[in-house]
Amino acid sequence: MTKIIPPFKVTARDGKSKARAGLLYTKHGVVQTPVFMPVATQASVKALNEEDLKHVKAQCLLSNTYHLYLRPGAEFLKKMGGLHKFMNWDGSILTDSGGFQVHSLSHLRKITEDGVWFKSHHDGSKHFFTPENVIEYEAAIGSDIWTCLDVLIPANAKHADARRALEITKRWARRAAAKYHAVTPQAIAQIEDGFKVPHSLLFGIIQGAIYPDLREDAAKDMATLPVHGFCIGGLSVGETREEMNLALQHTIPHLPEEKPRYLMGLGTPQEILDCVERGVDMFDCVWPTRVARNGQVMTSKGKFNIKNVKHREEQIPLDDECDCFVCKRYTRAYLSHLFRAGELTSHRLLSIHNIRFLTRLMERATEAIKAGAFTEFKAKVEENYK
Ligand SMILES: [Zn+2]
Repeated sequence: MTKIIPPFKVTARDGKSKARAGLLYTKHGVVQTPVFMPVATQASVKALNEEDLKHVKAQCLLSNTYHLYLRPGAEFLKKMGGLHKFMNWDGSILTDSGGFQVHSLSHLRKITEDGVWFKSHHDGSKHFFTPENVIEYEAAIGSDIWTCLDVLIPANAKHADARRALEITKRWARRAAAKYHAVTPQAIAQIEDGFKVPHSLLFGIIQGAIYPDLREDAAKDMATLPVHGFCIGGLSVGETREEMNLALQHTIPHLPEEKPRYLMGLGTPQEILDCVERGVDMFDCVWPTRVARNGQVMTSKGKFNIKNVKHREEQIPLDDECDCFVCKRYTRAYLSHLFRAGELTSHRLLSIHNIRFLTRLMERATEAIKAGAFTEFKAKVEENYK
């Protein structure tokens, strides 16, 4: 199989833990890791535009092949010049293959060796995803990082069912990789720090539910494939923290050091730091923006709800350590009023703050890793963040 040079370099290691800092090169620039990626499922991070995303120093967005394929359509996006141009975003974009959404949103999911039949959650229309056509859709969307189609299975699935799903995921990853290498040019002219940046990157998805033997098998197998990085999927779907950590213990040691690792769908500060400590580089979650629309604020001293009556007259920012413009310009009293009055601006302002909280947390984690003090940093954050 094709040998590839991963466009990723580890720039610092914590030493006392497995935490590492790195640079990931995409055709839209350099992503510093560990990184938090805001979720732009429908070509939009809810309530925000690209200026807001620049302000919160988002480097890479997560979008979704299932959603974009159904609406507005992958070919439509190609006609519009690709997703970046369509939404006016010049940073990096990773697209999830849609395996998770076919599992969680579709009214029907019939898996064959060839692919998966599903019904649109919009109008019930029937569609068929294969490892190959998902790569074609991602190419049409024009994202920087593509992912292979996988089979998601609930964390509490029986071992035999999880094994069956994993075997299909493994075979599909080979087909996706073959298709990827057939349709993408090997490298484009852009060279930074000696790295040739491929046209788009391909990440394989590691499954295996909560079973250590399956996780180990999945990781070892994916490590042999010509992909640029790894998604760790099927976690953060209702399993306990211990089960997740056990699955990670049996995944990460089998992955090559020189490729990035992305844990899909994880969003609380404690969970993210737990995984950075174990050597995960990339994260995404709808959580910070979803809770923002309900008034929940993440701060360096823990979380609170702006709708709580005690904030009504507070003439202080959401978080005095935060550098976002919401904290610089507005008081809790004003934001509390906006929520009570049902003003939509409140969703935007709180989402900006919550995302900045997480991107800043990753920047601080990077500094701590460079200083060899990640463990101390994590303990301090956890002590403050109740
Ligand atoms: Zn702020």
